[in-house]
Amino acid sequence: MRAIRIEAVGGPEVLQLVEVPKPEPKAGEILVRNQAIGLNFIDTYHRSGLYPLRLPSGLGMEGAGIVEAVGEGVTRFSVGDLAAYASGPIGAYAEFHAVNAERAVKPPAGIDARVAAGALLKGMTAEFLLRRCHEVKAGETILVHAAAGGVGSILVQWAKALGATVIATAGSPEKADRAKALGADHVILYRDADVAAEVRRITGGKGVPVAYDSVGAATFEGTLGSLAKRGLFVSFGNASGPPPALAPARLMLAGSVFLTRPTMGDYLLTTAELDASAAALFSVIGSGKVKIDIGQTFPLADARLAHEAMEGRDTVGASLLIP
Ligand code: NDP
Repeated sequence: MRAIRIEAVGGPEVLQLVEVPKPEPKAGEILVRNQAIGLNFIDTYHRSGLYPLRLPSGLGMEGAGIVEAVGEGVTRFSVGDLAAYASGPIGAYAEFHAVNAERAVKPPAGIDARVAAGALLKGMTAEFLLRRCHEVKAGETILVHAAAGGVGSILVQWAKALGATVIATAGSPEKADRAKALGADHVILYRDADVAAEVRRITGGKGVPVAYDSVGAATFEGTLGSLAKRGLFVSFGNASGPPPALAPARLMLAGSVFLTRPTMGDYLLTTAELDASAAALFSVIGSGKVKIDIGQTFPLADARLAHEAMEGRDTVGASLLIP
């Protein structure tokens, strides 16, 4: 089968298309014939070495397709089912991927492989951020960075469905228009504007009870300065580089605020948590409250171009690789 491999960490040029044996599902695993592979910004952290991997390695956490074979003891899936997965093991950039059946889900009727692969990782991230990391309530005004991106697009729509007012940030006027079309009430062009000052202006000086920051280094100070007293800073990504270290006294000076740095795996500890998160996501998609915006697709062989586009801020919504 064809798969993407890296032998060394580095820029997008380290992504190589290679021919490797098709995996055999071990006990407890299913072999998925990928119909669509989800691209995620985390894949660039694995490729660059920001999140170290044992090399050589495949790449990619997320995909959806048809179950081709089941390993011993698997009862959750049968051959021919549609399966989607988003928690690894790393190596989804391939025609086939063997994954733990307990970490995969069956999308409901009406959700095809492309939507599932565009939705699952980013959407379950939005689910735990909006419902569990902080429980967004109707009437709250929240801050969502990179709102035209994969996770950002879902966060905006889902937060609106929960009744929140959304202050979004975006890197270009076109992306700002996209965030508005998704339902954002206010959009700040954060490459130019002073985010904290804008958030204070919009909130009448109060600031926001929760801010979702996946951009990291570039937005850290602006996010801290945007919080209401006792607000929550959710730092969940590093698209512009890792945020700086922080002395606890700065949380006091910012208004007795809280800082959390969550990762999806810790909110999907059990199969029951995975199933509940995926079910909540598929429900908001099914009801039409959240639309999965697949902004661009690339052939598997063009993984390098896909990474260049992601890191070049040239993508909107979700991105897929098609085997
Ligand atoms: P996106 O589609 O959101 O792409 C990243 C976006 O970040 C870009 O489009 C860009 O939007 C913005 N950005 C700001 N500064 C930069 C920069 N210097 N270089 C590149 N991009 C920049 O990606 P995903 O939806 O896949 O992921 C979004 C974020 O969420 C990532 O940081 C990811 O790591 C994180 N994440 C965290 C999870 C967790 O469990 N903690 C799970 C899933 C995702 P713009 O042009 O508008 O600025």
